Amino acid sequence: MENCVFCKIIKKEIPAEIVYEDEEIMAFKDINPAAPVHILVIPKKHIEKLTDITTEDEMLIGKIYTVINKVAEKMGISENGFRVIANCGENGGQEVKHIHFHILGGKRLGDKIVG
Ligand code: 5GP
Ligand code: ZN
Repeated sequence: MENCVFCKIIKKEIPAEIVYEDEEIMAFKDINPAAPVHILVIPKKHIEKLTDITTEDEMLIGKIYTVINKVAEKMGISENGFRVIANCGENGGQEVKHIHFHILGGKRLGDKIVG
């Protein structure tokens, strides 16, 4: 997608601190971290938002969670725990229109939102 900032990161057109990459998935540090460890995990396939995920994406989206575990291990936050957040659409506060999973950790996180 031409004007998608995350697609540009995937194509290495703009820099990012990449912590994981394979043929389908990339993970990099958030430019404006909200916690000591703040990583974004994205599929390389441009999917705009969670509600655009289809059955053909099920393997890919499932794999994101094994990548999250690898990244959490690499960043040293596996043992103490972390939070995964995916914002969807306007009410979800999604700013970048390419699905992404925030991994937040490195401290005891507050403001738990359950509904
Ligand atoms: P959202 O609000 O869409 O769930 O989260 C978007 C996230 O992407 C924000 O936390 C923001 O700091 C991060 N972000 C936006 N642009 C860039 C960028 O160019 N590089 C990196 N590394 N992170 C970005
Ligand atoms: Zn994109």
